Amino acid sequence: MPQTSVAQFAGELKVPPSVLLEQLKAAGVHKQVAEDFLSEQDKTRLLDYLRKAHGSSEPKNKITLTRKQTSEIIKKSDASGKARTIQVEVKKKRIFVKRDADSTGPIEVPAPAEPVLDPREAGLREQERRRQEELTTRQVADLAEKNERERKTAELRVTEHKPVEAKAAAPAAGDTTLHKPKVAAGAEKKSAKKAKEVKVWKEEAVKRRTIKTRGDVQGASGWHSPKGSRHRSAAATAEVVQAASAPAEPIIREIKVPETITVGELAHRMSVKAAEVIKSLMKLGNMVTINQVLDQETAMIVVEDMGHQPVASKLDDPESYLEESPQQHEAAELKPRAPVVTVMGHVDHGKTSLLDYIRRTKVASGEAGGITQHIGAYHVETPRGMVTFLDTPGHEAFTAMRARGAKLTDIVVLVVAADDGVMPQTIEAIAHARAAKVPMVVAINKIDKHEANAEKVKQELVAQSVVPEEYGGDSPFVSVSAKTGKGIDQLIEQVLLQAEVLELKAAVDAPAKGLVIEARLDKGRGPVATVLVQSGTLKRGDIVLAGTSFGRVRAMLDENGKAVAAAGPSIPVEIQGLAEVPAAGEEVIGLSDERKAREIALFRQGKFRDVKLARKQAAKLENMFEQMGDIRVLPLLIKADVQGSQEALVHALTGLSTDEVKVNVVHSAVGAITDSDVNLALASKAVIIGFNTRADAAARKLAEASGVDVRYYTIIYEAVDEVKAALSGMLAPEKKENVLGLVDVRQVFKISKVGAVAGCYVLEGLVRRSALVRVLRDNVVVFSGEIDSLKRFKDDAREVKAGFECGMSVKGYNDIQVGDKFEIYEVQEVARTL
Ligand code: GDP
Ligand code: MG
Repeated sequence: MPQTSVAQFAGELKVPPSVLLEQLKAAGVHKQVAEDFLSEQDKTRLLDYLRKAHGSSEPKNKITLTRKQTSEIIKKSDASGKARTIQVEVKKKRIFVKRDADSTGPIEVPAPAEPVLDPREAGLREQERRRQEELTTRQVADLAEKNERERKTAELRVTEHKPVEAKAAAPAAGDTTLHKPKVAAGAEKKSAKKAKEVKVWKEEAVKRRTIKTRGDVQGASGWHSPKGSRHRSAAATAEVVQAASAPAEPIIREIKVPETITVGELAHRMSVKAAEVIKSLMKLGNMVTINQVLDQETAMIVVEDMGHQPVASKLDDPESYLEESPQQHEAAELKPRAPVVTVMGHVDHGKTSLLDYIRRTKVASGEAGGITQHIGAYHVETPRGMVTFLDTPGHEAFTAMRARGAKLTDIVVLVVAADDGVMPQTIEAIAHARAAKVPMVVAINKIDKHEANAEKVKQELVAQSVVPEEYGGDSPFVSVSAKTGKGIDQLIEQVLLQAEVLELKAAVDAPAKGLVIEARLDKGRGPVATVLVQSGTLKRGDIVLAGTSFGRVRAMLDENGKAVAAAGPSIPVEIQGLAEVPAAGEEVIGLSDERKAREIALFRQGKFRDVKLARKQAAKLENMFEQMGDIRVLPLLIKADVQGSQEALVHALTGLSTDEVKVNVVHSAVGAITDSDVNLALASKAVIIGFNTRADAAARKLAEASGVDVRYYTIIYEAVDEVKAALSGMLAPEKKENVLGLVDVRQVFKISKVGAVAGCYVLEGLVRRSALVRVLRDNVVVFSGEIDSLKRFKDDAREVKAGFECGMSVKGYNDIQVGDKFEIYEVQEVARTL
């Protein structure tokens, strides 16, 4: 940070340099002239000073709170009375302006006269002295003078009062706080009379106000206040309150502030009355009730304001919710847990059959009627240990979960039919498992069939770099038959061996944490969710928070539909009792308090979603460099129209890798870009390269929502150039494509001399006569060129919007077919930015 002079800083603060110099002097920073430079330390000192003097020397204050650090912002109200601020060091800020400031200034208002209890008084004086030492210059003088006055008044009154009365008040004040309405109020009234007698009418006015608002603490601390200020900060109040209860140092507590907290709870944590917190919030311009939920930042500001040290609890930190057992999770012993397995593979290769076979033969199902309750997961006990299978169909669920940042699977079982070999979805599954860095166990299925050729499958898998252990690779291969059951035991064995290597462990005696595998609304039972417990133990009767939903676990069923009372790590259960249907992939946390769960859920329903979305900012080719950090890897997902171009692209793009930067092709395939691709890209932070191919509707929507960067190219060297530019951190597209609309071809008329004219319907956006067009067939680009004509009925049109029909012809292209789509786009010139 460059050095700032006093004058500059004053300019930033919108105060005259002379005033700032004075403030600096008061803070113990001695600067002679406005040209002197200020160090960070000087600023900090100034801030400290101002914070201490909070409310006594500044007519108004503004606090800026960051999650990481707090900095105070100095301001003077200008002519318009509007707040002017400057932040000193802020990452994420929230600003509250204090509006209660008494413009008359605090020093002029002396403390209301009150009877003072001797021992307390002594303690206070001691504290007072200490405080005074900290303060400097004029302020100190002011305070000392005022204190002297206060003391005199108090002494005067004490002598006037009957000792009995003082004694009666003493024990009351001795317990927790000074909130002693009756005694204090009574005393106040009496003292008020005395006050009048000594003709301190100003004090009387102040006190009357105090009584009216029932602010007994305000009243009490008002006269206890060392600064005697009517609007000293709440921090001072808190300190005084504490000083009164324990006449030693003010206790500054570390207050954990969770994601959300009610006013009442926050007060409880700070050991003050809720009214205190409400008052503090009122000063910040927030009118709240005791049950109102505060967000973390606001709560932290209040804590700070009350003189304590706020500590933001992490979002998923169960400690912040379970204050009665904060160490539970850490202290809980980690015990081995069962591996969680997802079965993936090409369609019809036998995933369902395999899962069914295992389920049928291995799941201990006591009931004669068999399995009544089918949930998306089950676990099997084997002599060597337990395995949990996720019964979700294939990689869609897998990547959808991963795209949300949830890691559910420990091991992937890749099913490849021995009679069919490696197929597109096999390759996709391999890419998904790799991207997730999950070990694979290969099950070569259907070996009971005549056509089965396990050797051929092995070769094909090796070609995909899935190498069997026997060839020195790291993937165990097992030949199985989901029909006869051959090899299934060995398969489970291999899974358990892999699990051993992973050394999977989880806490058992702790509040549950897990993930929603699937959820639905049951007509009779309301929202039901299948939850995989990942650590801790979920018990019936527990309060759970599942994403934005919460509730008490009313019933809990295992995979056989049998009621269970508790579920430990790696155990899937179906729970009832949530207020709403949570989304698959949502995190489930066991909480101790229903109210808290509700608060968090409600809060999340509002704000949290956006936060999470924002946080999960997907990768963009432009900012890839920042994202790469030290590792400098550019992950790409390549989809192309034909295999030739796919291979050429993969080759050319990976060829761009150097020692420092690496292009990592997460997945490449032929065909349209699907939502599965987008999920994979999101999960692996990849940029999608579409070569003469397009995202389908679902994928487009998902990419848009999640911010995945999808880039279309029609010329290989363009793609290469852009990626190269991205790698060298120089990406600055000079031309940007702007897709205007999408048109559906519903009819084709062949007209002699003119050629093919398409009867069209504009699906999205609009068509502009001057724009360019790409002809898409099954989301593959078959032609690109210009629009030849655009007509509404018989007339030429300049523009046709979505929802309207139009006639179109494409320059130089007559092979238009019904069902084709026209992508209408423009090329924008974008200024080079660097
Ligand atoms: P999925 O699409 O991967 O879930 O495959 P399915 O489990 O639905 O199986 C597709 C077809 O393959 C079904 O007709 C099964 O009966 C058959 N199948 C699955 N496993 C085997 C096997 O090991 N041997 C034989 N012969 N057929 C099998
Ligand atoms: Mg199936």
